[in-house]
Amino acid sequence: MNIMGLVVASIVFGVAISSARAQSRNLLTVFNELSTTMMRITGWVIWLSPIGVFFLILSKLMEMDNILGVFAKLGLYFLTVAGGILFHGFVILPLIFFFVTRKNPLKFIGNMAQAIATAFGTSSSSATLPVTIQCLEQNNNVDPRVSRFVLPIGATINMDGTALYEAVAAIFIAQLRGVQMTFTNIIAVSITATAASIGAAGIPQAGLVTLVMVLDTVGLPAEDVSLIIAVDWMLDRIRTVVNVLGDSFGAAIVEHFSRQELKVSPDT
Ligand code: ASP
Repeated sequence: MNIMGLVVASIVFGVAISSARAQSRNLLTVFNELSTTMMRITGWVIWLSPIGVFFLILSKLMEMDNILGVFAKLGLYFLTVAGGILFHGFVILPLIFFFVTRKNPLKFIGNMAQAIATAFGTSSSSATLPVTIQCLEQNNNVDPRVSRFVLPIGATINMDGTALYEAVAAIFIAQLRGVQMTFTNIIAVSITATAASIGAAGIPQAGLVTLVMVLDTVGLPAEDVSLIIAVDWMLDRIRTVVNVLGDSFGAAIVEHFSRQELKVSPDT
């Protein structure tokens, strides 16, 4: 799961191939054809994803003994986190996208539907990465030179949903434990939550693990994550959707800012 390592190794490899020019043309062709083949396989997987997502969620619900009891206890916490994350992903990010690019954000989100469904089903930004790349390039026409650079980095370090969730979860646990939160505490929690989300891997429930760091800022023990674990499987899906959307909007905005450079050096 060392995505950053892979990204750095790939960049070094890419620079070496392009500097060797004619001598490594065959290698370049091999990689390009491998990528096309992988994308074709991803396309097949995408068609199966609605059935897969349905059974993944069903199996989780079957595992729970008392669904209503869990939601009665953690319902408001769940709604606060889910509402906040969804507001960020489906209102704030689209507005930023609209103001920067002047393009229709609803159409953009609609074109990302398969990536959104895969993120929801797998709870993993990294597992969703090939689908995100495909939706962004084929449906939203983002230049592959931007998407293939921005998305792998984004899937590892840019997690809007996780950052928001960790901050709210830490404040909720503190309130449950009767810890008084000062304004400075809240600022410290927000900063640590952002740092912890960068450190979280793009895999299921990684945010729950790095939440320990945030709890530490307000002097709460690591075991307290158990208080919210019952609804985390569902919140994880929601925050992964927003993590993936954040990366996609980010890539489209980077492409918008780089359009001059992309015109100057077509297909390099
Ligand atoms: N599952 C999330 C992701 O892959 C990380 C998290 O647990 O918040 O983006």
